[in-house]
Amino acid sequence: MRSKSQVVVVGAGAFGGWTALFLLRRGAQVTLLDAWGPGNSRSSSGGETRIMRGTYGPDQPYTKMAARALRLWKEHETRWARQFFHRTGVLWIATSENARYERSSLPMLREAGIAYEELSGREVGQRWPQMNVEDVRWAIYESESGYLTARTACQAVVEGFRAEGGEYKQIAVSPRDLEAGIRDGLLLSDGSRLAADQFVFACGPWLSQLFPETIGARRIRPTKQDVFFFGAPAGDACFAEPKLPVWADNRDRFIYGIPAADGRGFKVADDTRGPEFDPTSGERAVSEAGLKMIRDYIAFRFPAMKGAPLIETRVCQYENSPDNHLIIDRHPKAKNIWLVGGGSGHGFKHGPAVGEIVARLLMEDEDPDPLFQLARFEK
Ligand SMILES: Cc1cc2nc3c(=O)[nH]c(=O)nc-3n(C[C@H](O)[C@H](O)[C@H](O)COP(=O)(O)OP(=O)(O)OC[C@H]3O[C@@H](n4cnc5c(N)ncnc54)[C@H](O)[C@@H]3O)c2cc1C
Repeated sequence: MRSKSQVVVVGAGAFGGWTALFLLRRGAQVTLLDAWGPGNSRSSSGGETRIMRGTYGPDQPYTKMAARALRLWKEHETRWARQFFHRTGVLWIATSENARYERSSLPMLREAGIAYEELSGREVGQRWPQMNVEDVRWAIYESESGYLTARTACQAVVEGFRAEGGEYKQIAVSPRDLEAGIRDGLLLSDGSRLAADQFVFACGPWLSQLFPETIGARRIRPTKQDVFFFGAPAGDACFAEPKLPVWADNRDRFIYGIPAADGRGFKVADDTRGPEFDPTSGERAVSEAGLKMIRDYIAFRFPAMKGAPLIETRVCQYENSPDNHLIIDRHPKAKNIWLVGGGSGHGFKHGPAVGEIVARLLMEDEDPDPLFQLARFEK
């Protein structure tokens, strides 16, 4: 009899890294695998930054989950003497008085204990004169929210995991026959096999390829998302942290940005789902049409940045579930396989909260919240 439960976690992104860490802390013997490394440039958790906010409209339980996650992010900053979270505040702009998403967020924020103010368009313009507020009716300002570092945080989680006794290997899992269950161990890219009691697949956009029947493109559809970084004038203090908060602009399109940080430029992106994208072989070049749209937007909302040079771009992919809710469930035919993903453009912030949940489910042999189960797609 082995004394410890053995678990293999595949994928060291925002979900897998934290899951591996919390499984370890619950007493499991954990091996974490990743094909290209934590926060690699193909992964959805790659890149510099991700927004940490509680405004979620009626799409719950994410406001409370974000509040729990932020506590965990901060706890680990202290524990590891690292900075992940930047408290710039998050400004959520509403261009109509009765904006349903924003209005329905307010009671959720209150209930979750996330600090916020309601600002009029005029107040937004007074606080942040860099912004053109002519169509801003009101806004939610989450003063205690902000952004997280992404790639470096994933790397730090794996470092922390290893320091606490976890084993990490950079190696790929073969997609062959996973749907049939894992009997003689997990087949790895070097031809070896890795046995364990339970397996967690936190493979982001790759889940659909690894489990074509159970997940497939109808359950997780990776879409190409372009991210643009513009250069502010030399010596600028208006478009960089801490002079500007993270902002989210819910107009005909949902456009968001993060102030220039760490010398990286003023980040702007469109949340509209792009074309389907292969996370392994997709070419990561932004579209001309996307760039033009973003330039027009900036000229309108941040007039002093009109014509600012594009200094960096990134292409990432969302791993969208059909309802944008997370997927946390056992494989329907193999009870020792867990599938964790479906971040749908909002998963990163929740990483530690998701890791905590998944570790509890596995170690206590509990069933996941029906909202996260695959059976919801059958209804
Ligand atoms: C442009 C963009 C902006 C976003 N903005 C935000 C935001 O502001 N706030 C927010 O909270 N979220 C945001 N998100 C969403 C968030 O980043 C993702 O939901 C989250 O990072 C997904 O993490 P994951 O661990 O599920 O997947 P991933 O990070 O993709 O991790 C999966 C890992 O699995 C590994 N892997 C895959 N196949 C194999 C295999 N066969 N063998 C071994 N390893 C394998 C990969 O290498 C990868 O590292 C954004 C996403 C994008 C693309």
